Amino acid sequence: MKTPRTFILAIVMLALAVGAAAFWRNLRAWRVPGPGRRIVIPVFVLHRVLPGEATEYIISPERLDDLLRELNERHFIPISLDQLNAALREHGPLPKKPAMITFDDAYLDMYVHALPVLQRRGWPAVFFVPTGRITEPPAERVEWGDGPDPKAMQWPEIMALKKAGMEIGSHAWTHINLAKADPETVKTELAESRRMLAEKLGRAPLALAYPGGRHSREVRQATAEAGYQLGFLSSGGPLPLGIEDLYALPRMHVPGYVDAGAIVRSIPANEWR
Ligand SMILES: [Zn+2]
Repeated sequence: MKTPRTFILAIVMLALAVGAAAFWRNLRAWRVPGPGRRIVIPVFVLHRVLPGEATEYIISPERLDDLLRELNERHFIPISLDQLNAALREHGPLPKKPAMITFDDAYLDMYVHALPVLQRRGWPAVFFVPTGRITEPPAERVEWGDGPDPKAMQWPEIMALKKAGMEIGSHAWTHINLAKADPETVKTELAESRRMLAEKLGRAPLALAYPGGRHSREVRQATAEAGYQLGFLSSGGPLPLGIEDLYALPRMHVPGYVDAGAIVRSIPANEWR
């Protein structure tokens, strides 16, 4: 008996659809790695976002879009600070290729230029805010700013980021070098920022990014004592799961002139089994 060609075609199409669905489910599935497996989580750190600019600390919206497109095309899945914390402390599950986007310094251009790109590409991000610099009325110019016309966000913009599904972390209070500050100042910088974020956002921040990435053993210890669960550096490459010091978590600095494909390709593959 001759099987109709349309019937065979239908079977083949069905098999392909089932296979594609299984492949997609596998990529999206969350899992716990076996012991001793090498799993890395790229946590990218960016600063200013300005059209037409490309310096060490300024990226254009187009380059940011390139980075997120590359991550999506290579099936990276964004994770939250809670999910990262659970993975690091309690073997919480992760997607096969977890990643995180973070921004330091709370520049106004992040709200203007980065938020639309993040939303279009479906990426939440973490914004580390030097809370004492979010003044009312706004300061004319943020002192640590790089590039033209650096202005800080104000609370309405920060609240809008939160409402859009973004996370807010602490970048201490006045963006000083914590490694060089006296212990009392460090304590105040960490506690005041935490207090204000808790008051404004209804929940104390889980994580701190050290201003300028500068820290010391004492600063890391003070960060833990202040109640933060995680402390981030400004460089160091992809974050390895199983890292011992949760107050020295490396991030991947993204210069404005980055080749997004190259930086994403540089991330080593995870070994789940
Ligand atoms: Zn900073």
